[in-house]
Amino acid sequence: MPAHVDGNALAGPMSELFAFDVTVATAVCGSCGDNAHMGQAMVYVSAMGHVARCRSCGDVLMVLVETPNGTMLNVRGLTGLRIAPTG
Ligand SMILES: [Zn+2]
Repeated sequence: MPAHVDGNALAGPMSELFAFDVTVATAVCGSCGDNAHMGQAMVYVSAMGHVARCRSCGDVLMVLVETPNGTMLNVRGLTGLRIAPTG
């Protein structure tokens, strides 16, 4: 696998889609059931977009691709995304 950065690399592009900080949301991996903040995911960044992989099993959690025609978000690898209440 190529080098990766941590899930905090998703903060900028994801903030354009969600009104909350997705890096502190708890992601549940659909493959192994690992529960972890999205900020703990292994994120692979390329010109094609961002691919977030599970820190435990390495399977794909989320793919974010930005194109001139819009943004494609695939979350098929997540069983769930828990967002803590604010305030
Ligand atoms: Zn996993």
